[in-house]
Amino acid sequence: MQPTIDDEEDDSRADLSGEIRLPATLEGAGPLPARAEIAIVGGGVMGLSIAYHLARRGLTDVIVIERGYLAEGASGRNGGGVRQQWSTEINIRLMQESVELCRRFAVDLGVNVWFRQGGYLFLARNAKEVARLEKNIDLQNRFGVHTRMLDPAQARDIVPELDLTGIVGASYNPSDGILFPWPFLWGYARQAAAHGVRIFTQTPVGTIEPMAGGGYLVKTPRGAVAARRLINATGAWSPQLAAMIGVDVPTHPIRHEICSSEPLKPFLKPMVSELSSGLYCSQSMRGEIVGGVTVPGHGSTYGMGSTLEFLATYARRLVRLMPILGEVKILRQWAGPYDQSPDGNPILGAPADHPDFFLACGFVGHGFMMAPIVGKLYAEWLTGEPPHEIFSRYTLRRFHDGSGASAPKEDFNIG
Ligand SMILES: Cc1cc2nc3c(=O)[nH]c(=O)nc-3n(C[C@H](O)[C@H](O)[C@H](O)COP(=O)(O)OP(=O)(O)OC[C@H]3O[C@@H](n4cnc5c(N)ncnc54)[C@H](O)[C@@H]3O)c2cc1C
Repeated sequence: MQPTIDDEEDDSRADLSGEIRLPATLEGAGPLPARAEIAIVGGGVMGLSIAYHLARRGLTDVIVIERGYLAEGASGRNGGGVRQQWSTEINIRLMQESVELCRRFAVDLGVNVWFRQGGYLFLARNAKEVARLEKNIDLQNRFGVHTRMLDPAQARDIVPELDLTGIVGASYNPSDGILFPWPFLWGYARQAAAHGVRIFTQTPVGTIEPMAGGGYLVKTPRGAVAARRLINATGAWSPQLAAMIGVDVPTHPIRHEICSSEPLKPFLKPMVSELSSGLYCSQSMRGEIVGGVTVPGHGSTYGMGSTLEFLATYARRLVRLMPILGEVKILRQWAGPYDQSPDGNPILGAPADHPDFFLACGFVGHGFMMAPIVGKLYAEWLTGEPPHEIFSRYTLRRFHDGSGASAPKEDFNIG
């Protein structure tokens, strides 16, 4: 299904003959401009966030090149969870800022993204998981995130429908939340376009050639653009794009499945996540229970098919946790790719031998929530501010020269 840009705009409807009709401010047709200061490849949340923030800072000679429709990749297929419960200082601080940007999104960009801060409740089934949560809470509290440890009864005060059998503790941060991913992208796209950024959909990048004197010639079926700087924001496809100029990006795609139920009367406030199984679920503003579970063994694949194994595993775990959901009907099931990096942290900045080729990939299962702040920090750097420490810590180099320690070990890559 192709998302439309806005229900209220007739000219945003998908044209089933193959070309997406976009609002006048976006471009789905016509040739690429001959030149651009920055070409961003990838019309997911990361590319669009960077484009928007660049435009806000006055750098508008920017084009976004997306091979399909906006939100075609992981950005249109995810759970919309936004949390500050992390295990490293850098990710906690980044996510504090990202939550603030999410909170202001509707006002700043004029689009309601249904951001709802109902908290995140992580459930532990053994002492080791409790110790892990306690350690993280200590750190989170030090940076002003008000996560607290709960005993099982307190967890049930927050979600009365929980079956506490086997639950020994929980962590809860009330200011974590969920959002509806699609309008988030539309907000960025529309505002970036309104500021002068040109966004081309249905435009696959086929080759990239380094140019004498710097920059890249980016070739597509709509023609070529000579870009002084190029940003690779192609998510799980980043290794393929980087390989076009001989750069080795060591991420791989892992299929993750997810599903959504019929709408129910609102009852579930937080995102609930069970550490042992990787089960997570939340209730959308429309009432659907949206959730997933880790099903190991899918291997590295771009396949986005759905499996009965996922559905059965999810149903068993969900009903064990909330028996009240036993009769609920699942209406939709889909999948998307995690862009899995070797250490679970993102890969940012430019390789030494390609200083004009910037990476924004390796975000695993948390790229949506990080996109607001990463886009902002990238834009600050590319418009002349000193680079934020994420660009010296989350380098590609760390995988090639043994400087892996520059990226602190994040062990809370879940839910
Ligand atoms: C099931 C699931 C649940 C998730 N849940 C969450 C969550 O709760 N919270 C969270 O923060 N994150 C979550 N994530 C992760 C999150 O969705 C991603 O990290 C994020 O969307 C990545 O955004 P992106 O823009 O980097 O990549 P994408 O959204 O994948 O965008 C990359 C784009 O590049 C385009 N592209 C690729 N190759 C080319 C080419 N050659 N030329 C032109 N364009 C190209 C693709 O078509 C695609 O649109 C989840 C992911 C999945 C799959």
